[in-house]
Amino acid sequence: MADTIFGKIARREIPADIVYETDEVLAFRDLNPQAPVHVLFIPKRTLATLNEATAQDAELLGKLLLAAADYAKREGFADEGYRTVVNCNEHGGQTVFHLHVHLLAGRRMHWPPG
Ligand code: AMP
Repeated sequence: MADTIFGKIARREIPADIVYETDEVLAFRDLNPQAPVHVLFIPKRTLATLNEATAQDAELLGKLLLAAADYAKREGFADEGYRTVVNCNEHGGQTVFHLHVHLLAGRRMHWPPG
């Protein structure tokens, strides 16, 4: 599959404001934040969209969400609350085709999203 800007960030070829890392997951601040806290959690291994995920990726998908929750606890806003979002393809609003979980926090979120 095609390389993306997030693949380059994962390989440290271009800079990002990295805030969290494990063996399989990397997280960095979104360049265009939609909330006081807006962090993107990506698998270091490339997966274009949620549609490409298979049963073999179940653990990795779980690790992305657990990383987001761990970061929220570590940063002290877990109890206050936050939102996690995975956009998929055109109608989901996905623009970077390397699967990522948005973590948004620091303000009250609205539902339904626009
Ligand atoms: P999505 O629309 O779900 O694919 O989300 C892509 C997100 O990546 C957007 O919120 C962008 O602001 C963000 N973004 C794009 N390029 C970068 C970058 N180089 N570093 C950090 N965030 C980025």
